[in-house]
Amino acid sequence: MTLRRFFTTNNLLKALLSLPVVLVVLYFLPVLGVIMLIARYFVYGSRHYYRGPIIILIFSLLLLVPRGLELAMTNFGFNFSIPYLNDILSSTIYPKLVDYAQNIFIISTVFLIVSAIIKAISSKLSGNISRVLREYFSAKQASEAKAFQENDLKMKEKVIESQQKTPHVVKCPHCGKTNSITGTVGQCKSCRNPIEYKGEK
Ligand SMILES: [Zn+2]
Repeated sequence: MTLRRFFTTNNLLKALLSLPVVLVVLYFLPVLGVIMLIARYFVYGSRHYYRGPIIILIFSLLLLVPRGLELAMTNFGFNFSIPYLNDILSSTIYPKLVDYAQNIFIISTVFLIVSAIIKAISSKLSGNISRVLREYFSAKQASEAKAFQENDLKMKEKVIESQQKTPHVVKCPHCGKTNSITGTVGQCKSCRNPIEYKGEK
């Protein structure tokens, strides 16, 4: 089992690195959370390059909504009558959540940029590799075909050569004398008429 296969088939690992777990870890231990996000690249594969960071980004924006509303109210004089808004804003945990949301907003943005760079590099790289392989195989095929043709030609030449050099016994149709000729055509030694070897009987 390869390392990559171990990562991609390990369900416990997948559960540990699922987004809800990562989001909780990012709150308490941001550095470990970032390491887990990096590990997700190996465990979840390229299909999740963007999905994870985008979900985290949306989550951070949702957490920042009450803070945004508060800023709008204090700076622009808006007055939202949203239930529980003041409760949320005045709760002791909310400022911590705002810090957290800002952190994961930055982290997810960085991950999206890095994902885009990795994807661009890897697709360019794999494109180059496949092009090189294609060229290599077509060149190999061409040289094999050429070698085959050359072989074929040589064989034909050999056959013709051997046929020409083989002595044949031909009875002259004009005078009836038995001649031995090299190749398939010749001349009768006694009457000088052309004689031809017509193959094995
Ligand atoms: Zn003859």
